[in-house]
Amino acid sequence: MSRLVVVSNRVGPVKDAARAGGLAVALVDALRARGGLWYGWSGKTDKRAVDYASIEDAESLSLATVDLTPEEYEDYYNGFANRCLWPLFHYRIDLTAFDRRYYEGYRRVNAKFARVLYPLLRADDTIWVHDYHFLAFGNELRQMGAEQPIGFFLHIPFPAREVLAALPHHDAMVRGLFAYDVLGFQTEQDCERFRDYVVREAHGIANGDKLHCFGRTVTIRAFPIGIDTEGFADIAANDKDARRQFDKVTKGLGDRTQIVGVDRLDYTKGIAERFQAYERLLQEYPDTRREVSYLQIAAASRGEVLEYRQMREELDGLSGHINGTFGDFDWTPLRYLNKPLPRRALAGLYRASKIGLVTPLRDGMNLVAKEYVAAQDPEDPGVLILSRFAGASYQMPEAVIVNPYDSKGVADALQIARYMSLQERRERFEALMKRLRAEDVAQWRDDFMSTLATVTRRRTISAVS
Ligand code: ADP
Repeated sequence: MSRLVVVSNRVGPVKDAARAGGLAVALVDALRARGGLWYGWSGKTDKRAVDYASIEDAESLSLATVDLTPEEYEDYYNGFANRCLWPLFHYRIDLTAFDRRYYEGYRRVNAKFARVLYPLLRADDTIWVHDYHFLAFGNELRQMGAEQPIGFFLHIPFPAREVLAALPHHDAMVRGLFAYDVLGFQTEQDCERFRDYVVREAHGIANGDKLHCFGRTVTIRAFPIGIDTEGFADIAANDKDARRQFDKVTKGLGDRTQIVGVDRLDYTKGIAERFQAYERLLQEYPDTRREVSYLQIAAASRGEVLEYRQMREELDGLSGHINGTFGDFDWTPLRYLNKPLPRRALAGLYRASKIGLVTPLRDGMNLVAKEYVAAQDPEDPGVLILSRFAGASYQMPEAVIVNPYDSKGVADALQIARYMSLQERRERFEALMKRLRAEDVAQWRDDFMSTLATVTRRRTISAVS
């Protein structure tokens, strides 16, 4: 079997992969099975960073990492990746920074990563590149002469043609993607948007799951990412840290309905809209007062980016307003915590919550929705309320599906969830779990890798200029 090389912005963890979650475990397992190499950014910046990878052997696999200079970090990571591609691909043109310096830094850093990896490659390697940090990476490798199979998986949504067209370099960016052999997206809808762009904007030709354009052919397919369903369900049911968290949440709860939201603090997650929907619930349905308790965990992220700091201030204001208006000496309607929770505790928190409120404005997949369901007690499961704009909604139609912009609709969904019968909760849970088990993260990984193997067995190689 050929060696697997995984390329992603952040590498690892390897030792404690389980603590980081399903994706890390799935990748580490595949890398171990194939004596693989995991390659990416070290997470460090250094003024004197050079084109050099430090390599570390870690139990049947190797890690190779590169430092960035502070300028590279600013332009490639904070700039183009997180202030341009991230908002644009999530339909936030209003928050997108179209700065040419960022784009140039991004191209330079993608080329640097390719330059450093190239001499470490073996002729029969298979390369799997992850996410929006590395759209241009495959093309850089090809230009150096790499002929190995290279697959790419986009973890975030692919935007509609006219949204993408707002990016000054959209044509070069899409052209570069044709250096890959397989392009994986989260959903059929993402594939469809990519196909639409290529056919209508670049005059490519679609033929089933193949797209011909720029003298190259790529295979495009949806590979909806999953979680380690069995493992997570087992933690929620049996782990002692999960149990401790469960007890902490349920103690003193009485008959109150616990609602939970868990997110990275990000404007795509719709947390402000969620707070407004909760306020609407308290306003319009007075029977909810003192009878519900909403806990929102939002771990701070990307604090160096201005838009994230502004959002944080807005949420502080909204949560204070809700508690000031509706709270009482013996009841806090909304508890809002800016901290991450260990995975095991998270599993217990999900299980202790009768309603999981997952309402992103746009999300490639959303793994919290899947974790919430997997953590439930099969005898007495909670209800998932899920945004129609999360990729997960296509695999999870038995959730209560909502439009996150419609605060009255979300408030109504919360009431429906509160009063849902045990039988209906069980039926929905069982249907959801059946699919979560069949479409877990191991299945996602194996599916992608076997597609890449099949496609590249037959391909011819020509570099994209
Ligand atoms: P994103 O990748 O955009 O952050 P996902 O929902 O797809 O969104 O994945 C988020 C992952 O991070 C999930 O596995 C979730 O459990 C974890 N996570 C999110 N917020 C927190 C938090 N506050 N504490 C701990 N883990 C979190």
